[in-house]
Amino acid sequence: MAAFRTFVGGVQVTAVSDGDLFLERSFYPEISGPQWAEYSDAVQADGRLLINLGSFVLHSGGQNILVDTGLGATPGHFMADCGRLPGEMRDGGVPPDDIDTVLLMHLHGDHMGWNIVDEGDERRLGFPKARYLAPKVDWDDSLAMASSTLASAEDEAVRLRRVNAFVNQVQPLQAFGRLDLYAGEHVVTPEVSTLPSPGHTPGHMCVRISSQGETAIIIGDGVHLPHEVHETDWVCRGDRDGAMTISTREKLLDDAESAGALVLAGHFPAPGVGRLERVEGRRYWHAL
Ligand SMILES: [Zn+2]
Repeated sequence: MAAFRTFVGGVQVTAVSDGDLFLERSFYPEISGPQWAEYSDAVQADGRLLINLGSFVLHSGGQNILVDTGLGATPGHFMADCGRLPGEMRDGGVPPDDIDTVLLMHLHGDHMGWNIVDEGDERRLGFPKARYLAPKVDWDDSLAMASSTLASAEDEAVRLRRVNAFVNQVQPLQAFGRLDLYAGEHVVTPEVSTLPSPGHTPGHMCVRISSQGETAIIIGDGVHLPHEVHETDWVCRGDRDGAMTISTREKLLDDAESAGALVLAGHFPAPGVGRLERVEGRRYWHAL
């Protein structure tokens, strides 16, 4: 779909997508069939869940900041229809060559796929003039993961995929001399800063936009799909620490709701821009 544009105060936000990811409902291993009854609109005819691979381009302080870089040119082991990000960025007036900063919110493969592109035998930066920011806690965690092995075959397969994505799409940024590791509430511009939100990964970050009295949060994988705004305890396979995922999610959503913040959710149906509203005591997602 065409890029969606809005403003948070003076910050221009362009929502773009790398495509669609398809997941079995077993993505939520502890959720049974009857619990899905209320959310039939989240489930496709083939029984799978459709997850948008959304990124956001922020224009703030004279910079173009790309938040997350999708799955990449090919889906690899994922079931996905992907590879659209550079085209959507060009169509949206924010082409890859104009990006000054790439801000990675966490280091999973579906969020960093266009960092580096392959052209024949050559590897080049997907955003040629950008500095790349990656969360230090996830960087350290990825290095630790690369030097460990896990007992169960299934866990080991997941570990190898994570490590491959890291080795392929993040680690080389250091050799290119373009990588900065960040931690805590890192100020990218006076209007854009990061917000530690551990659980999904140990170093998971959200992004806070604050300008001219308006606020927005890019919620990342703090929330995957709209029903999680009230089913806050639905933990998915990708969530490293289930209990921390739930407490972080509840705090993020409570804070966003009480601030009346715009919520930018890259995995929600595109463009993933909306607000939280309460009807008869229950919190809902209201897409713009
Ligand atoms: Zn994700």
